[in-house]
Amino acid sequence: MIRPVQTDLFAVIGNPVKHSLSPAMMNAVFKSLNIPAVYLALQVDAFMEDMETISRMGIQGLSVTLPHKEAAFRAAVEVDDTAKAIGAVNTLRRWAGGWEGRNTDWLGATRALKEVTSLEGKHALILGAGGVARAVVYGLEREGVAVTVSNRSIERGEALAKTFQCAFIPLSDLNRSGKDFDLVVQCTSVGLQGTQAAPLLPESFFHSAMTVMDTVYRPLWTPFMLSAQKAGCKLVSGSEMLLSQGVAQLEWWLGRDIPVREGIQVMRDALARALTHE
Ligand code: NDP
Repeated sequence: MIRPVQTDLFAVIGNPVKHSLSPAMMNAVFKSLNIPAVYLALQVDAFMEDMETISRMGIQGLSVTLPHKEAAFRAAVEVDDTAKAIGAVNTLRRWAGGWEGRNTDWLGATRALKEVTSLEGKHALILGAGGVARAVVYGLEREGVAVTVSNRSIERGEALAKTFQCAFIPLSDLNRSGKDFDLVVQCTSVGLQGTQAAPLLPESFFHSAMTVMDTVYRPLWTPFMLSAQKAGCKLVSGSEMLLSQGVAQLEWWLGRDIPVREGIQVMRDALARALTHE
């Protein structure tokens, strides 16, 4: 095994991973907190084979992004109940026996939302039924939120609703008014740079007492968020979720809390710089 001796090594693995914002965020906080560590972006093509190389490199912790979250779940020798419920791992930590897996996406979403609103007793509409939607539904239900899921593909939406025992409405049947919802979280890839730009909901769906989060953070202000803004909703950007899930990863790897000013704010600023310079 190769052992780094002056720094600890961390990395994000994915494919593609070139545009990941995690290295900017993590290296900024390592520097600010004087932690002798380096965070790399590694493109991983063949998961199992490449993980052997990564293990031999002495890497301590990994962020896992598309398309490897399910493979990471299967490869981890120990996975907590949360990651089991979501069925995916986005964080790996190395210990003597192999890799331990966790999921911090749900924590990222709930922490980001809790910065601007209380959650308990609220009714949320979740758009989408992919991996991120699963994590968000799990997190919100843990906070005592009643969840309704809406998805384009009925089969996938119903499967998610069955797993988490929440309501389901096909996307095509959503009413034009969202008066029944306190919270809307957009978890589809719609609005992502280079994809369909028209938001899934019309401006008339939103009302000023709603809190709205779009998990898409590229661009930072998606057409969906701009519609919600016009309706006077409280907004939470996808970059706040990315930040909070990253903070949760760091806390788990390092086994300590990250301070707000020299830690979390430094990460937020690094993300903002990376997003504005793209
Ligand atoms: P998945 O591929 O697992 O799921 C994609 C979802 O988008 C499905 O529900 C799919 O519906 C829906 N969808 C795609 N295109 C359309 C369309 N044209 N109209 C309606 N619905 C559509 O992706 P993930 O769940 O992993 O990721 C979703 C998004 O979350 C990513 O694009 C990314 O931007 C964001 N993300 C944000 C993070 C953050 O920290 N802020 C972290 C990770 C991801 P169907 O089932 O019908 O195909």
